Amino acid sequence: RAKSDLVNVACFYEPSMDEVVRARRTLAGELRAALEFGQMDIHYQVQTAVSTGDIRGYEALLRWRHPERGYIPPSEFIPLAEESGLILQLGEWVLRTACAKAASWNPPYKVAVNLSAVQFVHADLVELVRSILDETGLQPDRLELELTESTIFMDKELSLRILRQIKQLGVGIALDDFGTGYSSLDTLRTFPFDKIKLDCTFVSELESSPQARAIVRAVLALGKSLDIPVLAEGIETHGQLALLNAEGCDEGQGYLLGRPIPLRQIVDQGDLVLSAAHEARMRVFPPE
Ligand code: C2E
Ligand code: MG
Ligand code: MG
Ligand code: MG
Repeated sequence: RAKSDLVNVACFYEPSMDEVVRARRTLAGELRAALEFGQMDIHYQVQTAVSTGDIRGYEALLRWRHPERGYIPPSEFIPLAEESGLILQLGEWVLRTACAKAASWNPPYKVAVNLSAVQFVHADLVELVRSILDETGLQPDRLELELTESTIFMDKELSLRILRQIKQLGVGIALDDFGTGYSSLDTLRTFPFDKIKLDCTFVSELESSPQARAIVRAVLALGKSLDIPVLAEGIETHGQLALLNAEGCDEGQGYLLGRPIPLRQIVDQGDLVLSAAHEARMRVFPPE
C-alpha cells in the first residue's frame, strides 16, 4: 500500500513540478526584455514620524507591469533576477531612477532603495553609488540603502568593509526586516546602521499578542540604547499606530500611512506630498 501511494505521489507531482520549472524559465526570459521594453516601474511608499505623521521619506519599491499578467510582485521576480544575475542591471536602474527623481523633490525628503545581496557583494557597488550621486546631483544624506541580515550574513568582513565605504560617501544604511534573520544582536553591535526597520510580522500581531508587544518594546529599547532610530513596517491599523506611539517608536510605514503608489500620484507641479498619500495621512493625523 505504502509503495503504491509513493508511486501515485511521484506521478502526481512530476508533471506539475515540470510545469513550474517551465513557467519560471519563461518568466525569466521575459524579465530579461522587460527593462528594455519599459515594463519596469517604481512605486513609492511614504515613511512618517509616528508621533506627528510628518513625512520623512519614501521607499522605492520595484514593480513589473507584465503585458499579459498585470503587476507581478517583487517576491516573484526578484529571486529570478538574482539567479540570472539580471538583478545587477535592475538594481542599477532602480537606484539611478529613484535618485534622479528624488533630486528634484520639493521638499527634499529622503529616498530609500533596497539592495539585493547579489548587488551588495558585487565589486562595483560603492563606485556605482558614488557615480549615481554625482550624475543625479542627489545629496548623499538623502539616500538610504536598505539591506537585510541575510545579505550581511553571507560575508561579514566584506559587508563591513562595503558598509563603511558607503557611509563615507554620506549615504545612510537601514537594516530591513529586522527580527526575522539570524544573529540580530551581534549584527547591530558590529555594523554602522542608521535605522532599524522592524519587520511587519511583529507589527501585525501587536494588538493580539502580548509576546509581539514585548518584542517590539525590547527592540525599541535596544534602538534607544544603541542610538539607532527604529521604523515599524506594515502599520495597517490605528490601534497598531497608537501602540507604537505609546512605546516610543520613531518612524512608521504601512498601508495606513500610505500605500506604495506611482510617483505621479504623489507629485503635483514639482511638489511632493499631495493627493492620495496626503489625504490618507490627513485622515490618520487630522490637523488640530
Ligand atoms: P521590503 O523592503 O521589506 O518592503 C516592504 C514591503 O511591504 C513592500 O512589499 C510593501 O509593499 C509591503 N508593505 C508596505 N506596507 C504594508 C502593510 O501595511 N501591510 C502589508 N501586508 N505589506 C506592506 P513589495 O513592494 O511587494 O516588496 C517586497 C520586497 O521585495 C521588499 O520588501 C524588498 O525586499 C523587495 N524589493 C522591492 N523592491 C526592490 C528593489 O528595487 N530591489 C530589491 N533588491 N528588492 C526589492
Ligand atoms: Mg525595504
Ligand atoms: Mg522590510
Ligand atoms: Mg521584506
